[in-house]
Amino acid sequence: DKKISKSKIKEVVNAAYQKFLNEQSGKNADYIPYLANIDKNLFGISVCLLNGEIIEVGNTDYHFGIESVSKVHTAILAMRQYGSDEVLNKIGADATGLPFNSIMAILLENDHPSTPLVNAGAISACSMVKPTGDSDAKWKAIVTNIKDLCASDPVLIDELYKSESDTNYNNRAISFLLKNFDRIYDDPDLSLDLYTRQCSLGITAQQLAITGATIANKGFNPVSKQVVFDAGLAPKITSLIASVGFYEHTGDWIYSSGIPAKSGVGGGVMGVMPGLFGIAAFAPPLDDAGNSVKAQLAIKYIMNELSLNVFSGD
Ligand code: GLN
Repeated sequence: DKKISKSKIKEVVNAAYQKFLNEQSGKNADYIPYLANIDKNLFGISVCLLNGEIIEVGNTDYHFGIESVSKVHTAILAMRQYGSDEVLNKIGADATGLPFNSIMAILLENDHPSTPLVNAGAISACSMVKPTGDSDAKWKAIVTNIKDLCASDPVLIDELYKSESDTNYNNRAISFLLKNFDRIYDDPDLSLDLYTRQCSLGITAQQLAITGATIANKGFNPVSKQVVFDAGLAPKITSLIASVGFYEHTGDWIYSSGIPAKSGVGGGVMGVMPGLFGIAAFAPPLDDAGNSVKAQLAIKYIMNELSLNVFSGD
């Protein structure tokens, strides 16, 4: 049972911010203009403790594209609606070791989409969301679930949604491959559109820190004080994040950081330290696997300085 003072966390978060503020490596996602044009110097770090207190610095209230971090939220929704065994059976829980948009993720494990945290499995998770067949009601369920996890509403970024929709040919191919292998559980176009729309939600680092804290706190959102999901789902979702949160760099990440975390090409990273806190960092420039460079540096630094590691057994 580890006790760390709030003032120590504050000191380390501020030190991480100062240390990496002027780091220039990586580059913004450039497959659509919206992401390419975001100010590359935006940087924020937010920590949400399990009593709901927030420690943060920098641009933590800036709404950026949630992108692939939303895969965590909708995996939780599928588990809330179906239970964790059904998600395992319908989608899977395996690391892929592949890029996020790989079509191989479907073919690898006997036509199984592998995990809800890569595109194939995330589109499949969107297809599972109830009530199936009703796009508006499914969208409402997806957004309400994100709101439950963040303790405030996400906001759709229309321009991002439009550009993502205009250019998502690879994801369209994935949807129809899923259909071919009976691994999509609603209309493929409808499921793809929901996935594209959820990726285009604007979210803040603070909101992601609160989601991380809700998972770290076994489903009880420490800010809204609401039970969002059953305590038994928390280790399931954290294990998914640990096994594939950084795609082909997941092993390197968890080896060097000691914290399960999920990234998105909007520049966000959300980490879960079970029993202690949720942490999120945001900075647009990415490495070659699509993970924010500064967010990774900051979170690793904070974990190391606080001598925290999920595997250390302290
Ligand atoms: N919208 C992006 C896609 O599906 C999300 C990718 C990501 O954040 N890794 O291609």
